[in-house]
Amino acid sequence: MTWLELADGVFARRHADLDLTLGLVLGTERCLLVDTGTDAGHGAEFAEAVRELTALPWSAVITHGHWDHHLGTSAFGPLPVWAHPATAAEIAHGTAAQVAEWSAREPFRAERLARSPVVVPDREVLDRVELDLGGRVVELRHLGPGHTPGDVVVRVPDAGVLFAGDLVEQGAPPAVGPDADVASWVGVLGRLGAADVVVPGHGNPVDRAFVEAQRAELAARR
Ligand SMILES: [Zn+2]
Repeated sequence: MTWLELADGVFARRHADLDLTLGLVLGTERCLLVDTGTDAGHGAEFAEAVRELTALPWSAVITHGHWDHHLGTSAFGPLPVWAHPATAAEIAHGTAAQVAEWSAREPFRAERLARSPVVVPDREVLDRVELDLGGRVVELRHLGPGHTPGDVVVRVPDAGVLFAGDLVEQGAPPAVGPDADVASWVGVLGRLGAADVVVPGHGNPVDRAFVEAQRAELAARR
């Protein structure tokens, strides 16, 4: 697990497990976590790593309703958690089925997942929310269904960084599950907006050319 500093106060944290990538954006008064980890234990490690960088009060945004991106939330204690309503609904009603599926698929996870309380996001991102972190405004955007019905991307305009969740994956083809809408996804990738660095939900940060190539690959898959 390592921190990558992508711009001043904008970090990605890479994990060997699932090649997962989490994010952290610092302002002068608050910080924002982009996803919270795969389970409560993993979330606790992430929380500790964040606290080595900053003591600022935190809030979180969950990019989409897949267990590996949000089951770490409980480790951060009570905090504001942003997500699209479709993501909040999936977390509330779909996590048990996701946990059952992955516990059967990868039995080593079963106990860790069973001990991870589900935290349902309490703040809504319908299409666009601006969060003032102090000295820096970040933008949370839902650009339409894609990898899931409720994907949210996080733009840090002053730093040229965009956290894309699983709308973009590096090191593996994008995961197209039963909850994906590939036709809409292709459109969403065309509307991400300007960014020098795009942080995927799994894999290393990439550039816009990589995103364009992935968009073409998805379009071809239709
Ligand atoms: Zn996903």
